[in-house]
Amino acid sequence: MSVTTVHAYAAPAPKAPLEHTTVPRRPLGEHDVLIEIAYAGICHSDIHQVREEWGEGSFPMVPGHEIAGVVTATGPGVTRYATGDRVGVGCFVDSCRECADCRAGEEQYCTGGGAVMTYNGTGRDGEPTYGGYSTHIVVDENYVLRIPDGLALDVAAPLLCAGITLYSPLARGQAGPGKRVAIVGMGGLGHMGVQLAHAMGAEVTVLSRTLGKREEGLRLGADAFHATADPATFERLAGRFDLIVNTVSANLDLDAYLGLLGTGGTLVNVGAPENPMPVSAFSLIGGRRSLAGSMIGGIPETQEMLDFCARHGIGARIETITADRINEAYDRVVAGDVRYRFVVEAGSFAG
Ligand code: NAP
Ligand code: ZN
Repeated sequence: MSVTTVHAYAAPAPKAPLEHTTVPRRPLGEHDVLIEIAYAGICHSDIHQVREEWGEGSFPMVPGHEIAGVVTATGPGVTRYATGDRVGVGCFVDSCRECADCRAGEEQYCTGGGAVMTYNGTGRDGEPTYGGYSTHIVVDENYVLRIPDGLALDVAAPLLCAGITLYSPLARGQAGPGKRVAIVGMGGLGHMGVQLAHAMGAEVTVLSRTLGKREEGLRLGADAFHATADPATFERLAGRFDLIVNTVSANLDLDAYLGLLGTGGTLVNVGAPENPMPVSAFSLIGGRRSLAGSMIGGIPETQEMLDFCARHGIGARIETITADRINEAYDRVVAGDVRYRFVVEAGSFAG
């Protein structure tokens, strides 16, 4: 079977509300799988891109890179997946496969032309890519993840971006017993970070604007929870952390947060705000501190993260909506009014 036209929700132009449309999906190639999407998460990156906060976008734009569903057909050469398998797709759907990064399983950093992003990108066939706010998607099997049986598809969808974006810097930063880790911002990414760092065995502190999410933060595994609106927080916690992961979607005073690192500590920035953030050299020199960045994770690491989540019973805390509520959900995400990830039921993309 080959699907050529599928239902989707798209922004027809920059900053425009999303609306029902149809988009083409290519016929199944040798190594392609057809996925019937069950759920698509709403990531703040979807909003940044629809609103062109990262630069010019490609329109119509069908966002969605937190995709969970079921394989309904496979190309003749597919060996990794079969009809009925529960699978996920994250932020990219192809890459050069030949550069050092691709060979190392870090396809997101592909230097052979860059990874093909799941949407707002151009496939290696020259066609625009359309994301997960859709009923079906066709993806090369090498860029598809297996969702373990223990994970429900709705709570698994956000793991494909929010989960891996926190898992990678936490695992690489050796979050574990004896490590003091702070997660800045408890939104979609941050609430995954709290659960993952706790499951890795680290001592976890949440730094949120207010104490409004404190109870939930502690339930998710935080050992401490502080309000960043209170200047005393920065005095009390000075020099405390080994690793800080900043998930905030807006500009922060990075110098203030670097001051919370102990000697040799690292602040990994994963938030991607529209504007540059200044840093004083002295915030880094004093205490030999590092400021780093991290982007999602490669295919092997994403599978490792999904298996880790299944083993530890970790999923996203979600609010499930239908497609007609996406525009309202975008405004609520920007306003910080989401506990903690919106997930769209994909059947509702049909209109
Ligand atoms: P989100 O659900 O909106 O969460 C962001 C959190 O940041 C909010 O819940 C809030 O936490 C805090 N925040 C928001 N505005 C703030 C402000 N003006 N000042 C201080 N804190 C503020 O967004 P998300 O989906 O988790 O994404 C977060 C960021 O990561 C976005 O910029 C997104 O594009 C980026 N991202 C990066 C990667 C990557 O690979 N590096 C991957 C995915 C997303 P509190 O209410 O707790 O303060
Ligand atoms: Zn994302």
